[in-house]
Amino acid sequence: MKPKLHTQILLAMVAGAVIGAALGPRVEAIRIVGDLFIRLLRMVVIPLILASMVSGVVSLGASGRRLGRLGLQTLAYYAATTILAVLVGLILVNIIRPGAGVALPEAAQQTAPDVRPPSWLSVVTDIVPENPLAAMATDQVLSVIFLALLLGVAICTVGDKARPLAAFFEALNAVMLRITGWIMLLAPIGVAALMAHTIGTMGLDAIRGLAAYMLTVLLGLAIHAFITLPLIVGLVGRTRPWRFIRDVFTAVATAFSTSSSAATLPVTMTCLEKNAGLSDKVVGFVVPIGATVNMDGTALYEAVAAMFIAQVYGVDMGISQQVLIMLTATLASIGAAAIPSAGLFTMMIVLQAVGLPVEAVGLILAVDRILDMFRTAVNVWGDACGAAVVNRLQAERGG
Ligand code: ASP
Repeated sequence: MKPKLHTQILLAMVAGAVIGAALGPRVEAIRIVGDLFIRLLRMVVIPLILASMVSGVVSLGASGRRLGRLGLQTLAYYAATTILAVLVGLILVNIIRPGAGVALPEAAQQTAPDVRPPSWLSVVTDIVPENPLAAMATDQVLSVIFLALLLGVAICTVGDKARPLAAFFEALNAVMLRITGWIMLLAPIGVAALMAHTIGTMGLDAIRGLAAYMLTVLLGLAIHAFITLPLIVGLVGRTRPWRFIRDVFTAVATAFSTSSSAATLPVTMTCLEKNAGLSDKVVGFVVPIGATVNMDGTALYEAVAAMFIAQVYGVDMGISQQVLIMLTATLASIGAAAIPSAGLFTMMIVLQAVGLPVEAVGLILAVDRILDMFRTAVNVWGDACGAAVVNRLQAERGG
């Protein structure tokens, strides 16, 4: 019997890692296979978000109250879990103090990336697309979500005349999910190639001096992924966490190997609908928003990284400063795009808020790529748990 997809994926990850370790930098040629897998996934993301969100809103009907309730439950879950994640990170970084023994001169030799922190104003104004087609063409996910919500509500209020449009988006959604299903058949090969490339080209010397920092982030992510979220899924979502993680394992592994919640989105939606059996209207509404704004792993990482930098610089962070870190790390994770390394750049907002030099991101640059894989996996796991919780709350209301 052929092993199930999640077993295949697990084997593929291990095989990829072994091949990468054996071949080292020669593994570069395998990159094309991983790149093709990511390109295929990214190809379906925008039409899928548009179609699934419009259909989700339309199937909720014109009732503003139901949509509002779903929206509130979703946002409440996202805010609560992100803040819990940051709290875990802050507690650990205060106990472990990974930056305490790191010498600044040695660390400061790392070169800082030449980028500016994003401005909040542009993040907010860009949500409203000037040109819907341009927004879709340039992967402006938040703008596409905004457009989809508006289209869905408008289709409901127009009624009969807009019925063909509703049917069109429903059909587009089904077709995009079918294509995603085909792409997922390639997931074991894609994931193996991505793992081989990452392991083969990773410089391990960079980890020197940063091991305690990395372990703090990883421990925090593990507590959030294996304790906090399963408790919420079990108690509020009334779903058995271990079974559920098996259902969405392909999505979590894809997130781990691609470091992009956006590229993983089609896989996440398919796992939740097909394996976990969640309602497609809940998944269609909750998950695209989650992939874009709900990043528990990123928020935890940003808080730990900011505290680590403060410790290296010998700056004492009092309670009020740490509350500021908590708030800005939450906001910065919301503002981070769901693509590789996005969290590293929005972290500059956190550094700025507490008066640390933004160039200090240079300190943690060397291990960002590997941490990105873990935090993206936790981000996607958090989105999946959110869908399970909201699905349950909706079912209780008979919705
Ligand atoms: N790569 C992450 C994601 O796509 C964002 C980040 O850099 O933290 O979820």
